Parts: sequence; C-alpha cells; structure tokens
Amino acid sequence: MNLFDVYPLYPITPVKALDCTIYDENGVEYLDLYSGHGVISIGHAQPDYNTKMKAQLDNLSFYSNAIQNPLQVELAEKLGQMSGLTDYSLFLCSSGAEANENALKLASFHTNKSRVIAFDNSFHGRTSAAVAVTDNKKIVAPLNAQQSVTFLPLNQIDLVKSELEKGDVCAVIIEPIQGVGGLDQGTTEFFQALQEVCNANNVILILDEVQSGYGRSGKFFAFQHHNITPDLVTTAKGMGNGFPIGGVLISPKFQASYGLLGTTFGGSHLACAAGIAVLDVMKNLNLIENTNKVSEYFFEAIKAIPEIKQVKGKGLMLGVEFDFDVSALRKKMIIEKHIFTGGANNKNLLRILPPLTVNTEAIDKFVKALQKSLAELNA
Ligand code: PLP
Repeated sequence: MNLFDVYPLYPITPVKALDCTIYDENGVEYLDLYSGHGVISIGHAQPDYNTKMKAQLDNLSFYSNAIQNPLQVELAEKLGQMSGLTDYSLFLCSSGAEANENALKLASFHTNKSRVIAFDNSFHGRTSAAVAVTDNKKIVAPLNAQQSVTFLPLNQIDLVKSELEKGDVCAVIIEPIQGVGGLDQGTTEFFQALQEVCNANNVILILDEVQSGYGRSGKFFAFQHHNITPDLVTTAKGMGNGFPIGGVLISPKFQASYGLLGTTFGGSHLACAAGIAVLDVMKNLNLIENTNKVSEYFFEAIKAIPEIKQVKGKGLMLGVEFDFDVSALRKKMIIEKHIFTGGANNKNLLRILPPLTVNTEAIDKFVKALQKSLAELNA
C-alpha cells in the first residue's frame, strides 16, 4: 500500500532527537527551531518525561473514560495551577481540531444558536466542525446543515459588533496569535472590546491556544497578554510534547451533564502521563522564563540582518518576514545549514517555533546561518 500523498517532503529522515537537536539516519545533526509545528515544548526525549512515559506504559496505558482515572484529576489540577485558570474545568481529547470541535459544540449547545465568527487567515483545524483558511481559500465544514461560519478581518470591532447583533451567532473563535496564517494578532484594545461585545450579546468567546498556549508566547496562555477572560480555551500541540493530547478549558458558566461530550482516546492514562510530565518539566526548568529570555535575545540578535522587514509574534512563536518568497531560503537552511524552520500561508515568512528549552547559542547559530544563506542566495 502507498501513502496517500498529501505532504510535500524534505529529503531528510530523522531517527533520533535530544532536546533541540535532531539526528538523521546518517548521524547528521540538525537544529530544531520548529518543534514539528510547535509540538515539542519541553525538548525532544526530555529525560523526566521519558521516565514517566515508560513507567506509565509498563503500568496502564489506556482504559475507558467510564472508569475513574486519577491521572486526569492530577492533570486538571496542575493545569489549573500553572495557567491560573483554577475555576475552569477540563475536557480532554486528542488533537487541536477535536478541541475546537468540542468548544464549538459547547457554544452551540449553550446558546442554542449555530453561526460562528472566525477571522481572515485563521486556522482552527481540518475536521468536520473546525474552520480553516488555507492558501487564502476558505475551507468551511459546518457542524450541521444549519451551521455557517462568517470570516471577518482582525481588529475591526464594529464589523464583529454588527454581526453579533443579528442574534444568530453562538461563538467567536480566535487565535491570540495566528499560527499557520502568518503571526498576525489582535491588539489588546480589540481583544478587550471583543470580550465586551460577546458578553453583551450572549456569544461564547473561544480562544484557540492550540499553538500559542503552554508558555510559547511568554505567558502560559497568549490571551493573558490582553487581560481578558475567555469562556472557552482550547489547547493541544505543546500539551503532550509529541504525545497526542488536547483539551478544552471550560469556564464556570457552562454546566456539565452526562453524555454532553465524549471521546474514546481523550484523557487516556498515557496521554495524562504525558500532560503531567510536560507541566512538571515546564515548572521545574522555568521554561516560561527561558522563553522570555531567549525571545528578547532573538529580537536583538536578528537586527543584524537588514534584509528582514519585521519580526512578528511573541515569545518563541515568531515569524521573520522578508519582502520575497522564503521557500528557497527555508530549503537552504534545512538541507545545507541543517536548521529546521517553518513556513506559513504568508510565503514571505519564516516561522520560528523552537522547543522552549532553546538557548541563546542556538539563536546565534541561526542568525549566522541565515546571514550566510541570504548572501549565497544573492550571489
Ligand atoms: N488550531 C490552531 C491554532 C492550529 O495551529 C492547529 C494546527 O496547526 C489546529 C487548531 C489543529 O490542530 P490539530 O492539527 O492537532 O488538529
């Protein structure tokens, strides 16, 4: 059987990794400044994480959600403490799209309405209820025949207000910092007005922290830069450091009832072990502090490259923008300089999403390699 060929692949086969270094089958070392789309939050093969995962695998990796699982309780408690959202409840699932599906479902149940507001260039996943914009094509797969999604430009609160006042909207879903779309973000003024206008119209505000959460922006959740209180927060990627786990953090305004939501794999023992290990390591290694320190260093160091138009993003969720398509540059950085970076729908943007353990030497290495690559491409 062949693989269904939907991903363009670089000719590299990683077989091993440690912290921010990846090794291919020939033992060649690569610097990982992309974390596999921001998934590797605490570094590859982190020793405490691996110990916990191996022990859990030897004990119990999975049993049904109909049986008590104290690891889910431990994970929820630790996540509440680390994020500061102690009065929210946690629903566990297995991916970002699933988290957003469940959040949209909750919003729809809660309000008895169905229309969703999302933003131009946003990305919320690729399953039936999720909403995605890829290559400027809006891919909208509604929850049910009645559901529709309206896309609006960021930072234009009057447009949001007039849509919400029509009375048929259940939720506004927004990334605090756009990932795939290219690192655009709403202003604090916009986020605060969005919360106000949602409250005034009984519309659920969903913050999609699938990519920006878990310390990546320099705060546990990126919405915390704006002093707002969302109704629902979705998370995945960095939550399991490579083990698939996602979650919806649900504010006290929602009432749980048996059968309202459900999943087979979400919250398995092994998934919870991964989730707990990530939070423990983030705390023990002060990774949010490291994120802020290295981010500050990055913004300074990158000034050495005059070809850069701007650096977008926050913390270690960054986009380096040029005034040309960076595909060849990115390829050169991977194949010749052995540094992984990411692309975005904005073709002029090089995305930098390293493990949160990254150090300033790695940033120096990146800046030098980027300078060299730019000179070679211009020669
Ligand atoms: N939301 C955001 C902001 C994302 O960046 C992504 C994935 O890139 C998703 C949702 C979908 O997550 P998953 O691929 O785990 O379904």
